[in-house]
Amino acid sequence: MENTQPKKKKVINARTAGVITKEKKSPVTVFKAWCKGCGICIAFCPQGVLDFDENGKSEPVHPEKCIQCMQCELRCPDFAITVNKEEE
Ligand code: SF4
Ligand code: SF4
Repeated sequence: MENTQPKKKKVINARTAGVITKEKKSPVTVFKAWCKGCGICIAFCPQGVLDFDENGKSEPVHPEKCIQCMQCELRCPDFAITVNKEEE
C-alpha cells in the first residue's frame, strides 16, 4: 500500500544550518557572530563558566560548572548566548 503520509520537512534554523556551532557537551552556546564582547555574561555568571576568547568574545571555558541559572542568556543584550536546557 502506498504511503500517503506527508513527508517530514527538514527544519532549517541557525543550528541545523550550521550557523550556530555548539560547544561539545557544553550546556551553553555562544553565537559569536552576535557577541560584541561586552562581558556582561562573564560578569554575571555565578560559576565562572564564561571568559573571553582570543577574539574578545564570550566562551564557555568551564562548561562543566554551569548550573543553567539562565543569567547569561537573560542578561545578554544581543541575544548571543543560549542555555541548552534540553541537555540536562
Ligand atoms: S553578554 Fe552577550 S554580547 Fe556580551 S559578552 Fe556575553 S554573549 Fe557577548
Ligand atoms: S547558565 Fe548560569 S551558570 Fe551557566 S553559563 Fe550561564 S550564567 Fe553561568
